[in-house]
Amino acid sequence: MSVLSLDTQPPSRVDIHALRTRLDGCLVVPGDPRWDEARRAWNLAVDQRPFAVALVESAEDVVAVVDFARVHGLRIAPQGTGHGASAITSLEDTILVKTERMRGVEIDPVARRARVEAGAIWADVVGPAAEQGFVVLHGSSPDVGVVGYSLGGGMGWLARSRGLSANSVTAVELVTADGRLVRADRDNEPDLFWAVRGGGGNFGVVTAVELVLYDAPELYAGALFFPVDRAAEVLHAWREWVETVPDEVTSVGRVMHFPPLPMVPDPMRGSSFAIVEAVFTGPESEGEELLRPLRDIGPAMDTFAAVSPSALQDLHMDPPMPVPGAGDGMFLDALPAEAVDAMVATSGPPLLSFEIRQLGGKLAEPSATNGAVGSIDAEFVMFAVGITPTPEAAAAVDQAVDKAKAALAQWELARTYFNFAERPVAAERLYPTETYRRLRRIRHAYDPGRIFVANHPI
Ligand SMILES: Cc1cc2nc3c(=O)[nH]c(=O)nc-3n(C[C@H](O)[C@H](O)[C@H](O)COP(=O)(O)OP(=O)(O)OC[C@H]3O[C@@H](n4cnc5c(N)ncnc54)[C@H](O)[C@@H]3O)c2cc1C
Repeated sequence: MSVLSLDTQPPSRVDIHALRTRLDGCLVVPGDPRWDEARRAWNLAVDQRPFAVALVESAEDVVAVVDFARVHGLRIAPQGTGHGASAITSLEDTILVKTERMRGVEIDPVARRARVEAGAIWADVVGPAAEQGFVVLHGSSPDVGVVGYSLGGGMGWLARSRGLSANSVTAVELVTADGRLVRADRDNEPDLFWAVRGGGGNFGVVTAVELVLYDAPELYAGALFFPVDRAAEVLHAWREWVETVPDEVTSVGRVMHFPPLPMVPDPMRGSSFAIVEAVFTGPESEGEELLRPLRDIGPAMDTFAAVSPSALQDLHMDPPMPVPGAGDGMFLDALPAEAVDAMVATSGPPLLSFEIRQLGGKLAEPSATNGAVGSIDAEFVMFAVGITPTPEAAAAVDQAVDKAKAALAQWELARTYFNFAERPVAAERLYPTETYRRLRRIRHAYDPGRIFVANHPI
């Protein structure tokens, strides 16, 4: 449905030209030779067809584009990488504001803060932070956007010991619907500051965030690979093991079917495994002790070692480049033995990966300083995904994801995880009821005209 109303005029060519002259970056419209490249998302299965794509280079560019959209009755969809693009239902009459050219990162070792521009990916932050002796709360993939990830929660390898990335954001710079560039933090615009930390891209275009830098701990991390026909035995052992480990361990139990593609290294290429991946924030000797019960069952490959913070980026073996894919996830309130059996029974191809992550620890601790994402009372989160190069593959993967979710449905929580909801989902399901009501009030206060198009609209 069009958002153009009677009191706004669609932009003419002259208007578009005038906007272009105001931008440091550029505005790409259909018919432009760069159109297909400009509208592409990281998830290549998503066919984005906005009104125009603004490749912004500064906060001033964002202000100009937001003002333009408001005057002409258009909407604004902020996007960093497009990892989360699949849940956006329509970009009609919408300017896709891509921040990929804004990748500046400043590390302040004294204040123990990183200021990260909106287009930065985690790989831009992890190395510079590590060089100064710090870690950040990135997730499994180095090329996920810091902002999109953190606005939706952000669960990574230090999740059980240090919590969600959203709750480690100390300030957000963003352009609101009325074209103001504001800094939201504990003291300024506190409602907005609370809302964006879990409420996603519903409140404005973020131009930069400030994050806590944590002292780099010792890290003992890696993966145990087992032949896939041992999946039941391995995942039952992992399930029992996670009940015994301290919050300093964050781990994943998964089944993976590596595609026979050249980008997949030997000996994974074309093979299937049951895998346990884990990170322990502590000394190697203690890590070895903790891991012993799983090592004792005899993995075919074992990559555990004392590692540097940068090594965590590759542990999950996410695709290193844009791919077409479809997946979905859900929170689980328990993982009894029957749930592991149900997972194993539905984990075959065409799924690429069916994983379960242990939650708890710091994730479950409520705090008055948390953002809207709050704390997570689920015990586990699952995610199933496949590669979808063709419509037939997409249909088969969708069906497999449905089956995987159905198999675990009896342990599913009503709340679902913002960042793993790759299908459109009612936003009420992303939060406790009171949180959702407050988010709606704040959205109405800051964006009464509903200019902003987020992947999960509030
Ligand atoms: C391979 C892969 C691995 C992943 N691993 C993890 C993981 O370990 N842990 C985890 O928690 N999640 C993970 N995710 C999910 C990921 O965090 C979400 O998809 C997240 O939304 C990606 O952010 P992005 O900026 O890269 O993507 P985008 O698609 O660019 O952004 C997603 C949404 O964030 C909002 N947004 C982005 N930029 C801005 C901005 N500048 N201003 C306002 N709003 C903005 C928009 O609403 C946008 O639709 C993974 C996803 C993939 C595909």
